[in-house]
Amino acid sequence: MSLILPPLPYALDALEPHISRRTLAAHHGHHHAAYVEKTRALVRNTPLESASLDEIVRSSTQATPLFNAAAQAWNHAFYWQCMRPGGGGEAQGTVAKLIKDQFGSRSAFSQQFVTAAGDQFGSGWAWLVLDGSRVRIINTPNAETPLTTTQVPLLTIDVWEHAYYLDYQHRRLDYIAAFLTHLVNWDFANHNMSLATKTDVAREAEPSARSLRR
Ligand code: FE
Repeated sequence: MSLILPPLPYALDALEPHISRRTLAAHHGHHHAAYVEKTRALVRNTPLESASLDEIVRSSTQATPLFNAAAQAWNHAFYWQCMRPGGGGEAQGTVAKLIKDQFGSRSAFSQQFVTAAGDQFGSGWAWLVLDGSRVRIINTPNAETPLTTTQVPLLTIDVWEHAYYLDYQHRRLDYIAAFLTHLVNWDFANHNMSLATKTDVAREAEPSARSLRR
């Protein structure tokens, strides 16, 4: 079975003082690990046993135990990569241009991201997604994920309390501010953008390749 807990892309203390070792150890080692383990248990001896995590998320029915576990496993693996030590600040590259086109300025983008992440009632996620040719900020409750839509996830922040409570208690907005100022991995957002562009080019090329074979 290919479902494993991916290692964190940095050391447990690498995001301090913004996210503590204690938070990462519990969040990755217990919460994320439990979602992976639950997914493995639920697909064991089923047709999805050898499917990839992406396939399981896309093919399971929303809000079922399998969807919740698999989507949370996928969302967390994605979230770790959205941060890096010494990250944050101004976006660069293609994403920076699309943010400027859509929101007008970096501060307008930040304000809307803070609002989306801060206003998510209860548990969930805020995302920067590619929607067609423009970027959008959305939020999703519980385990829901843009992976099941036509939108392409570029960046996310986990706003379940387990992501910030040990470090910030009820101050979710301080956690979101630290994420934007010190942690965001814009290289990862640009990487996701370039993958999406390549996929679109491949899709567009496919019909003509088929017609050539006829
Ligand atoms: Fe989480």
